[in-house]
This record gives sequence, C-alpha cells and structure tokens, in this order.
Amino acid sequence: MLLLSLTAALLANTFSAQTPAAPDRVEHLKRDAIQNVEARATSTQQMVDQIFSFAELGFQETESSRYLVALLRRNGFTVQEGVAGIPTAWTATWGSGKPVISLGSDIDGIPQASQYPGVACRLPMVDGGPGHGEGHNSGLPVVITAALAVKDLMQRERLPGTIRIWPGVAEELVGTKAYFVREGLFRDADVALFAHVDDNLAVNWGDAEGTGLVSALFSFQGRSAHSAGAPWRGRSALDAVELMNIGWNYRREHLRLQHRSHYVVQNGGDQPNVVPPTASVWYYFRELDYTRIQELFALGDTIARAAAQMSGTTLASVRILGTAWPRHFNKPLAEATYQNIKRVGLPTWSEADQTLARSLQRELGVPDSGLNRRVDSLRPPIPPDDRRGGGSDDIGDVSWTLPTITLRFPSNIPRLPGHNWANAIAMATPIAHKGATAGAKVLALTMLDVLLKPDLGTSAWTYFRDVQTKTIKYQPLIRPDDRPAVELNTGIMERFRPSLQRFYYDPTRYKSYLEQLGVTYPTVRRSDGACPAPTPSATSAR
Ligand SMILES: [Zn+2]
Repeated sequence: MLLLSLTAALLANTFSAQTPAAPDRVEHLKRDAIQNVEARATSTQQMVDQIFSFAELGFQETESSRYLVALLRRNGFTVQEGVAGIPTAWTATWGSGKPVISLGSDIDGIPQASQYPGVACRLPMVDGGPGHGEGHNSGLPVVITAALAVKDLMQRERLPGTIRIWPGVAEELVGTKAYFVREGLFRDADVALFAHVDDNLAVNWGDAEGTGLVSALFSFQGRSAHSAGAPWRGRSALDAVELMNIGWNYRREHLRLQHRSHYVVQNGGDQPNVVPPTASVWYYFRELDYTRIQELFALGDTIARAAAQMSGTTLASVRILGTAWPRHFNKPLAEATYQNIKRVGLPTWSEADQTLARSLQRELGVPDSGLNRRVDSLRPPIPPDDRRGGGSDDIGDVSWTLPTITLRFPSNIPRLPGHNWANAIAMATPIAHKGATAGAKVLALTMLDVLLKPDLGTSAWTYFRDVQTKTIKYQPLIRPDDRPAVELNTGIMERFRPSLQRFYYDPTRYKSYLEQLGVTYPTVRRSDGACPAPTPSATSAR
C-alpha cells in the first residue's frame, strides 16, 4: 500500500512538474496535427490495404508484424521484437522522458472470413481462407499515423515525452494482453490509448458493454481399441467430450443471464473404427467480473471431471489459451477524447460509400440506413442491471493496470454480424481509409492533450486510484505457470498462406488494393442474382 501511494505520488509529480501549455499554443499545435494526419492519408491507406491483404490469424501475424516493424524502424522508432515470449509481438519506442504514452491496437483476422473488399455480396478471395472479418487491419494504421504526426510536432517543438506502440496480437483469442501486463509492458506508462474499428467515432468511460473470460482447452485421455472387434476394451475420450458438453448444456439453463459460454470440439478422434484415445474441447467462459468468471471456469472443471468419471477416461489437462478482464475505461481521458471527436467529426461519405453500405445491409436483411452521419454521444457506464453478455477484449487487463481508453473509429458499416465475411467488405475501401484518417486525427489530438496538459494525466490517475480501483484490484486470470498459446492457428496458416500470398498488396504498382484486385467500387449483386467477380487488368495478374 505504501509502495502504491509512493508510486502514485511520483506519477502525480511527473505530471505536475510539467508546465501546462498556453491555450492558443495547444490550439495551434492541434491544427498542425490535423493537417499532418491529412497529409498522411495515402500512407494510412497503404497500411490499411497491406495488412488486409496479409489476412493473418492470431499468433501467426508474421508478415503484418515484419511490415510494421520495418516501417516503424524507418521512422526512427526503436523496436523490441518477440516481447513476452510471443514471436509476433513487439514494442516500438520513440522519444524520451515523461509522459509515456502507450498506444495499441489489434492486428489479427478471423477464420473463414476471406472476402473481396468493395463487393457487397459473398465472394471469397481464397475459399475457406482467413480474412479481416473484424477489421483489425485498420487499427495499427490509425495508431501509427497519429504517432508519426505527433512525433513531427514533438521534434519541431522540442516537447518531452515517449511514444510506445504495441500490437494486440491474437485478440480474437484474447491471447496476449494479460501476458503484456505480466511482462511489465505498461510499468512506466502514464496512459494507454487504444483504438478499435467501429462504425462511428466513439468513446466511453466506466464499465463497458461486454464480458471478461477464461478460454480453456479440456483434453481427455482414453484407451484405443478396435471399435467393432473389441469395443469393451476401449475407453473413448470423445465420449468424455460429448458428456461434458451435454452436462454443460443442461447446467446452462441455471446460469445467470449475464453469462455467455460456447465451445468447439478441437479433437474428436481420428477415424470411426479406432476408439478415440484422445479428444479435446475448447470453451469460452464469459461473465461480468473476476469472481464470477473464476466460478464459471471452476464449474467447467467440475463437469469435465464428472464426464471423465462417467466415460472411464481421465482429464489429462486443462490449458488456459486466453483470458480477459471486463473493460473499464478512464473518465477524464474519455471526456478529453470526446471533445476531440466532436471537433474532428465523421468523414464525408461519397455516394459510392453509401451504395456499398446500403447494398450490404439489404443483402444481410437489416435496415439499409447506410453509413453513420452523426457522431455518437459520450457513453457513460452501462448500469449494472443492463449489462447482458456481449464480447470481450483483453484490453480489459490493460484498463485495470493504468488509465486507458478505447477510441472507436468509423472504418466499417453499421449493423453487421461481427466475426463474419461481411465485416471484411468495407475494410480495404475508401470507407476504411477515411475512417482511419478520422480516427488518427482524434488520437493525435488526445496525445497532444496528454503531452501539453499535465492536469489531464493527474486527474486520469486520480480517477483510476480513487474511483475505478478503490475496491476492485486487478489480479490476473492467467495462472503463474500459463504461457501464451503461440502455436494456435499454425496449421490453418500453413495451409492457406501460399494461396494468400498471390493476393498480397503491392503499393509500388497499384494506388489501392481495389485497383490491384480489379474491383469496381462499389460492386453490388446484379439484377439476375449473381455476385459479380472482379476483372483484374492484365497488369494486376501476378
Ligand atoms: Zn476486435
């Protein structure tokens, strides 16, 4: 406790030692930052398109990371690779002294979400292949564009401060941020500004919508035998998996409505005439707070052990593959960001952008309201009784470690299902590009607020200490011996990478990825019902 208050005092001192900048100087620098981000629109577009074309799944973001690390090194950042024992994770640092601004965004794709961008009907680029069906290809371009713009101003004005950028590796597996926290990635950071794709410019504070979770793989060990010749000599590990799932599904009715749980069978045996000696099932246990998440996980463990007893097998291992704390965002930082959101406003959408959006909405059977034209309001915390399930993001672990916000930016189309090919359609089109530029402007302005107004950092920490963590203290959901599940998705990426490589974006030859693919923007379903394939020009055939 003494150590905590000492740290807090030191941090408070760090901020109060800085002299606040005069309001007209802040204003002047903010105008320059907006211009600087605008001048970077082409480089932002290239980053968005490039990462889209790599289409890499969690823990296998090798091309995306190689590309971004090289780009950041060219721009003067010092990069440390392989952080926290994760091959595709890195930190890129520039500048010196306080404040230290930590900037992050996710980078991984979704299985089976391969889809031609700019085409408002189902048209995979690689059949069965992964794709950016969440839009994570746009987040680091937002962060990097903002960072480079602010770095220019810091150099020009000789402003002290450190910028540190990191990728949200394997966010779809909620697989890394708890390890980043354990590794001490945020130990010297004053604030964390995180960016995530959305269909609007938005920010919120307090308890966010959604859940935290434990993701765990239950592996059973049985005994093989000839399934017809001597089935009585075998003990099926698949039986244990099925009994666990049946048990869980009966128990599900008696769980809180706020919970969410789901599973996939990862190994169900090899062939029917061999009694499966091994089998495994992968569960996500989601709830609203640390204690309830742990209770749900413990219940899963009990049911798994019972299933093993019933089937005469053993529960060989329970491996944690990912975890996430529920998210709670910082009030002063969110309020400052919201002022910048109002100032920047939404991009000007073209008729082509709106046609793509409305056609896709009709395709999916949802109201065809098109793209948003008004910025979202500053969302206060969701009242406890209104919190019902929802997704997770391991930025939650970061948000309980230091003052954090997530800036959501308008690079996607409203009313999409999420984790789906439809969510990839806008993500390498002018919608994504303009949305990323708008997001980068807001982020750059908020970085300037942190650099130039020390009071903001002080009040962010006061809220973090005296309100957010007054009674709830962060404790990791990962166990001391857990290690990042870096081998996940290896097989899928080995299988699809050769096909994906044919589609990697080459910005030296094509102004945009749509041009390289030969996609007419926007492409919509024809009146005869066909989803038209692009017609690559002679030069785009590789
Ligand atoms: Zn996401």
